Amino acid sequence: MRVARVFPRRTKATPDDDLAFTDVPGLFPPEVDRVEVSVAFSWDLKRAEYLAREWRHIAPTEIGGPAVGTPGGEFDPGRFLRAGYVITSRGCPNRCWFCEVWKREGDVRELEVKEGHNILDDNLLACSREHIEKVFEMLKGQRDPVDFSGGLEAARLEDWHIARFVDLKPKQLFFAYDGPEDREPIIEAGRKLVAAGMRPHCQLRAFVLCGYAKDTHEAAERRMWEVIDAGFMPFAMVYRGKDGKRAPGWSPFQKKWARPAFPRRSTRPRRMAAGTSRSRAPGRRARSAGRATTSSGMSRQRETASGNVGGSIGHTAKGRISAPPPRRVAGGRSDEVNEPIKAPKPHPPTTLGFGVRVGTTLLSVSFARETERDEWLRNFGARHPDAGDIAEPVMLKLTEIKGGDDGEEEG
Ligand code: SF4
Repeated sequence: MRVARVFPRRTKATPDDDLAFTDVPGLFPPEVDRVEVSVAFSWDLKRAEYLAREWRHIAPTEIGGPAVGTPGGEFDPGRFLRAGYVITSRGCPNRCWFCEVWKREGDVRELEVKEGHNILDDNLLACSREHIEKVFEMLKGQRDPVDFSGGLEAARLEDWHIARFVDLKPKQLFFAYDGPEDREPIIEAGRKLVAAGMRPHCQLRAFVLCGYAKDTHEAAERRMWEVIDAGFMPFAMVYRGKDGKRAPGWSPFQKKWARPAFPRRSTRPRRMAAGTSRSRAPGRRARSAGRATTSSGMSRQRETASGNVGGSIGHTAKGRISAPPPRRVAGGRSDEVNEPIKAPKPHPPTTLGFGVRVGTTLLSVSFARETERDEWLRNFGARHPDAGDIAEPVMLKLTEIKGGDDGEEEG
């Protein structure tokens, strides 16, 4: 049976085979026996209904997915998620107020472990050790870089998990900081993971929930810095209601903290700190950081996530932020899954980059505006009052340091 899958928006996780569509059938519709419209976000429901009306002339059409509360079944690789993404369990034993996973999927249930390198389980670490071992075993055989972009719950992290993560050398692990109860676990998780050899701010990342009722920019920024200090690169997850709208004033905050310029350890601290040359290393880093801070098109929306007809995408370790189904860190929460694909913006011609050194750590950042740079410096100074350890910033014009290739990983 030929089944067309139709999605109201295209994201990095949307399948790209010949029977995956994101629009109306058009003049030359495919010959199919059935159409499944899969809607992950509640705010896409209107468009999903419109697409279903257009496709029903082609074949019997059904709407499903997390946004309509359809619980997921067995995971079918490549059906509602692009090949490489994989879900090995659904559901979660927690009951986070903003998350739809536990309402839709119930308690955690383990599925057959299929092949894939990007784990999108709702809460993988809530599964049994036997299941998690199977998942790690499957991941060891993957050729592509392993990615836990679904999100992990820091409070469930155990020492044997850490040993397996270190062994796997994943591209990145996403943890979740959704509320005060996550603060201590994520700090502890960062301490243990870094001590075990995971690269802080590169392999370690964190979804930080913000923008909910009574949250403030100051409090949210404080949480961002807490996860940075713990070794994670933060990713702001701004709460969205069922209509997909954020509270006023939070969109710029989300853009700022979706891919912030952040501290990284340099392999060549001396050259950078001295500011003696526009070498490839600093140039490369500054250019990457500039892109991160200035390219809003790269920002990611992970809020709610996922779904599919008869098989939810899951969310993440703490799930989704909005309603019907979103996901949370674990599971549908993968920023990869939710990020609409947009054309990358060109680098601004006059991005300002600089490097500062604190002990053996080199920070390399760049900004589009001097006001952004000054704000960053103020925050940095507040976190590191020992001014004697901070080298004089070296100002560089991005246009003058373009030479290096971009070695920075894509989050
Ligand atoms: S947000 Fe994550 S931890 Fe919380 S209920 Fe949802 S899946 Fe579970």
